[in-house]
Amino acid sequence: MSAKLIDGNALAASIRNDVGRRVRRLADLGLTTGLAVVLVGDDPASAVYVRNKVKDCHEVGIVSTLDRLPAQTTEAALLARIAQLNADPAVHGILVQLPLPRHIDSHRVIEAISPAKDADGFHVSNVGMLVTGQALFRPCTPYGVMKMLEHAGAHLDGAEAVVIGRSNIVGKPQALMLLAEGATVTICHSRTRDLAAHTRRADIIVAAVGRIGLVTADMVKPGAIVIDVGMNRGADGKLCGDVDFAAVREVASAITPVPGGVGPMTRAMLLVNTIEAAERAAG
Ligand code: NAD
Repeated sequence: MSAKLIDGNALAASIRNDVGRRVRRLADLGLTTGLAVVLVGDDPASAVYVRNKVKDCHEVGIVSTLDRLPAQTTEAALLARIAQLNADPAVHGILVQLPLPRHIDSHRVIEAISPAKDADGFHVSNVGMLVTGQALFRPCTPYGVMKMLEHAGAHLDGAEAVVIGRSNIVGKPQALMLLAEGATVTICHSRTRDLAAHTRRADIIVAAVGRIGLVTADMVKPGAIVIDVGMNRGADGKLCGDVDFAAVREVASAITPVPGGVGPMTRAMLLVNTIEAAERAAG
């Protein structure tokens, strides 16, 4: 059996279409939707991410501003800029690109963003809302994974789900979102003793580690749905995930590719978070 491919590019395109419609609906009421992106320093990867985010906004009609601040920017200056954006009614979402230069405390910066504009969903208040089942903003990557599972027709209620990775931006919020949908969730991580024993029981596997070939075919139950969040560079320089795609697709019922899987969904969900914030602000 060859697994059904969950096409992140196609699903992200349909999500962007829907966001575009919602942006135009607000525009018809005289309201613009705005995302403020802040980049500190000149990390080349961050510059590419930020450029893509601005381009995506443009495509769906979200007005996006980009603050490019020099690497020497002080924490106080960055906090002052965030305070301005918090107070600006034209800004519905604020995204500070991570990582920040080492002299700036990322935690303090994230906590300075108004929880009502926290488009990444990283503020402790939004994490708390997610934990208590009243999520306002959901972190984009796990939110995108949930959309992919929904699109694949996954039955989450009562399902065994294994999340590999426990980071604050992917693994932990992913586990909470699956839990909220009724899955029995196991979180595996670098200290897990027997990873395969857990994954072999899983109806759904989400791999978010950053290690090539971590999930092999013998670790997957026939018919499981496998979502690959990992983003790695192979020896040939090509982008690849954490899952041995060619072998696992012969065992799974549905699988995401890398590239063209979770990556484009992460970008699309930032737009969703922004339009949701603008709609909330519009009442
Ligand atoms: P992270 O480094 O913060 O976390 C990695 C996690 O993997 C840790 O919790 C660690 O305990 C766990 N881990 C490490 N070795 C392990 C092992 N042998 N077995 C089981 N667990 C192990 O990384 P992150 O920010 O959560 O990102 C994870 C991966 O997802 C990376 O490859 C990253 O590039 C990718 N990513 C992709 C997207 C996307 O849009 N596609 C978004 C975010 C992250």
